[in-house]
Amino acid sequence: MARVYDTIVIGAGWSGVVAAKDLSKAGHSVLILEARDRLGGRARTYTDGMHIPVDLGCSFIHGYKEGNPTRDIAKEFGVTANVCQPTDGQIWKSEKLEPSSSASKLRQNLGAARTSAQSLAQSANPPPSPQAPLSEALFGPQSPLFADIPDKDLAISFARMLEVPLGVTLEKASLRWDGWENNYAGSDAAPEGGFQMFIDKIVDAAKQDGTEVKLGEAVKKIEKTGDGVKVETDKGGYAAKTVVCTIPLGVLKTNAKTLFQPSLPTRRLETIQGTHVGVLEKLVLAYPSAWWPDAAKVGSFILLPTETSQGEPKDAKSVFRQNTFILASFAAPTLPRQHPTVLFYISETPALALEKFSPEEVVKAGHESLKERFGVSSAPQPTGSVLTNWRTDPLAMGATTTPSIIGDGRSPLDFAELGKPLWGGALCFAGEHTDSNHRGSVAGAVISGAREAERVQKYLKRLAEA
Ligand SMILES: Cc1cc2nc3c(=O)[nH]c(=O)nc-3n(C[C@H](O)[C@H](O)[C@H](O)COP(=O)(O)OP(=O)(O)OC[C@H]3O[C@@H](n4cnc5c(N)ncnc54)[C@H](O)[C@@H]3O)c2cc1C
Repeated sequence: MARVYDTIVIGAGWSGVVAAKDLSKAGHSVLILEARDRLGGRARTYTDGMHIPVDLGCSFIHGYKEGNPTRDIAKEFGVTANVCQPTDGQIWKSEKLEPSSSASKLRQNLGAARTSAQSLAQSANPPPSPQAPLSEALFGPQSPLFADIPDKDLAISFARMLEVPLGVTLEKASLRWDGWENNYAGSDAAPEGGFQMFIDKIVDAAKQDGTEVKLGEAVKKIEKTGDGVKVETDKGGYAAKTVVCTIPLGVLKTNAKTLFQPSLPTRRLETIQGTHVGVLEKLVLAYPSAWWPDAAKVGSFILLPTETSQGEPKDAKSVFRQNTFILASFAAPTLPRQHPTVLFYISETPALALEKFSPEEVVKAGHESLKERFGVSSAPQPTGSVLTNWRTDPLAMGATTTPSIIGDGRSPLDFAELGKPLWGGALCFAGEHTDSNHRGSVAGAVISGAREAERVQKYLKRLAEA
């Protein structure tokens, strides 16, 4: 254990690579330890059987024109990011396209219900109880969701599409904190070639500035020593003056009690357990041709349930029939390179139900359900497919941190708590779960990595001057 690094960064996702880039650029010695055999973490680009690379984790730089700092990094590294062009969207109820007047009513009512819930969260006196879920406001008798819509179930199943970005059911998301975050929104942009290639470029630059990277080394212990920190992996031991730990919240839930020596304070351990990691999976089906309706112009389909759920779904196809899905079509001109591929965004309820079936069964059921829904019996078989498993991936244990959920004592302050340094400043924490305004996004990870790099630099300066 000869060398003592200025910093060991644990994890090579967005937060880790940004921290390493900034620190090595400032002249500090950095070692990245990553348990996977690839860079990127929840930035993962998939190519097998695909027409062009498809992102299975993050796919968009949200708020690209509205200040997201990832845009500056793209510019710095010569990464082209294509801003998504708005294309038509369709809502499908049963095997029928909703008429456009009814579709606009559904959209308009959901927007109004969301605004009304957020103004309740901000202005009600007393504020909503910590136990009140978002569903209470959205589905309450006075909710604008139901204005002039006689079919309440239709409006409710449409509102379920919010469970995709939330990562959690509307019955678990907190009403009190709804809309608290000030995150980047508006325009979306997708990096050409995918997010993993973007990360690779940053790591290459960090390496040129001296950063060392070890892949396939899972950190087992992080220990405070007299003058710094010792990090043990399954392959060896390393010493540093500081550590930036970017291990995802879902993973910390499983190992935080034993990973750190001395143990993390009780409040930190309680916050790790009390905050929530959401579910969002993707199913990608690549076809030889775009056979679905209006493929050349419709970029997204909201697929509403075609049958009511009655207990356990009997097969994977029933899960597709009984839930709301957002389906993205890459055949539309949303992005410059169109290709005959569709992507299901799978929210918590269907994702958990689909876990009972094999990936092959889910792919088959996804394809069959589209044929059935769009009434196209002659649709070609997919030539490539992939289903994610972020929830059970031991190095992610979920998609991303969700907004605050119902329960006493929970608030967005939790995310600030998760990002506080310990051990006098020698142990720092970054990752999407440590940023109150941008949790759950690339922006949150990027901002937290830069934040901790700055903190470490100040700490090292103080150490040198002592
Ligand atoms: C399906 C999905 C879609 C998404 N879509 C978007 C989107 O369109 N736009 C957006 O802004 N965000 C999106 N996100 C969120 C975004 O991907 C994440 O917020 C971001 O990538 C998280 O970066 P991170 O550095 O915090 O964590 P990670 O990327 O998870 O990095 C942490 C790293 O730590 C490693 N690690 C874990 N344990 C150990 C250990 N013991 N030792 C060593 N290494 C370890 C992991 O392998 C991982 O590489 C999406 C996420 C998912 C899952």
